[in-house]
Amino acid sequence: MTHVRIAGRDTRVSSIYCIGRNYAAHAAEMGSRVEAHPMVFLKPVTALLAPGKASLPSFSSDVHHEAELVVLIGKGGVDIPASSALEHVAGYGIGVDLTARDVQAELKKKGHPWALAKGFRGSAWLSEMVPAASVSDLAALEFNLDVNGVRRQHGVVRDMVFPVPELIAYISSVYGLADGDLIYSGTPEGVGALHLGDRVDLELAGLVSASWSIE
Ligand code: MG
Repeated sequence: MTHVRIAGRDTRVSSIYCIGRNYAAHAAEMGSRVEAHPMVFLKPVTALLAPGKASLPSFSSDVHHEAELVVLIGKGGVDIPASSALEHVAGYGIGVDLTARDVQAELKKKGHPWALAKGFRGSAWLSEMVPAASVSDLAALEFNLDVNGVRRQHGVVRDMVFPVPELIAYISSVYGLADGDLIYSGTPEGVGALHLGDRVDLELAGLVSASWSIE
């Protein structure tokens, strides 16, 4: 999967930015503190996975789900002000930043980058995207992740430490944003392990849902 689907059209994905520790309760459950600036890491495009079948990486025995609001950039830019940042958004979706937690813990100990723990093939699950015009109140958006019919994560966009406009402003100032970039905006509390045979249902409330089966 190298494209995302929005309003019946396929858009080619450029870079995939991800934000760590963007919900205080999740930072706390990880024993981490919230940072002064958004904490950014990247995944390769080969990490993207459309709804359907998923697999877990063989080099980890503790792979966690992280449900996240995903932002699709429609119009790139550099030094985008937060005040006009939402004009650069083409749409929103719901996804999972799949994380090999045991590998990540080892990397953190060694002071190594997180690419192995978070950037492996199939580690960026993503639903279809909803056009930004159909979202009237971004802060009020709620999203859920269920595993085998049991609710594990519930998030409300207004609980983000750095709201979407600030993420766009920050990422565009450091990296520059391009058309087709995705931003995984961080996960709320409730992350946990996935296992073979699990069914994972994601919902961006009232807008889009998507499911994966782990085989
Ligand atoms: Mg995450």
